[in-house]
Amino acid sequence: MLPVIALVGRPNVGKSTLFNRLTKSRDALVANYAGLTRDRKYGEADIDGHKLLLIDTGGISGGEEGIDAAMAEQSMLAIEEADIVLFLVDSRAGLTPADEMIAKRLRIRSKPTLLVANKVDGVNPDIALAPFYELGIGELFPTTATHGRGVRTLMQRVVEGL
Ligand code: GDP
Ligand code: MG
Repeated sequence: MLPVIALVGRPNVGKSTLFNRLTKSRDALVANYAGLTRDRKYGEADIDGHKLLLIDTGGISGGEEGIDAAMAEQSMLAIEEADIVLFLVDSRAGLTPADEMIAKRLRIRSKPTLLVANKVDGVNPDIALAPFYELGIGELFPTTATHGRGVRTLMQRVVEGL
């Protein structure tokens, strides 16, 4: 069984972009992994020879106030399966109530979590990233998933944490 890394966060923060970059669209053969559901998207990544199983999730939707129960459920199940959670937020959009809700759930689970501030292209990191430290998630990794900036540093930290 490979170490499992779940990508969670509200919709449109860049989870699938990061997933595709890391897995290079190598879909994992879910059938090879006992105990994993087929409801979520899995892919294999190779970080300096460390093989990982990534889970992409649909995210938590339903606007800023509400939470779509089915999507939230999927995210929570992915968190349960994960050894390490990558919690993505959008640096451009800033901190949202949905981010705060997910952070609360992660704190309750107390899973090893890295906070990924994606879409740092075109923002001043000193200003844009400050609010995310309030989430109390710990280490924050700025990334640009579309171009790969910061992704290597993030994934090296993931591998160290295994
Ligand atoms: P998901 O809903 O969390 O899976 O988000 P997606 O991966 O589908 O990305 C949502 C949108 O954000 C897409 O149009 C991506 O191209 C865009 N996006 C993802 N990462 C970045 C980034 O680092 N910078 C910018 N500017 N756009 C990004
Ligand atoms: Mg997606």
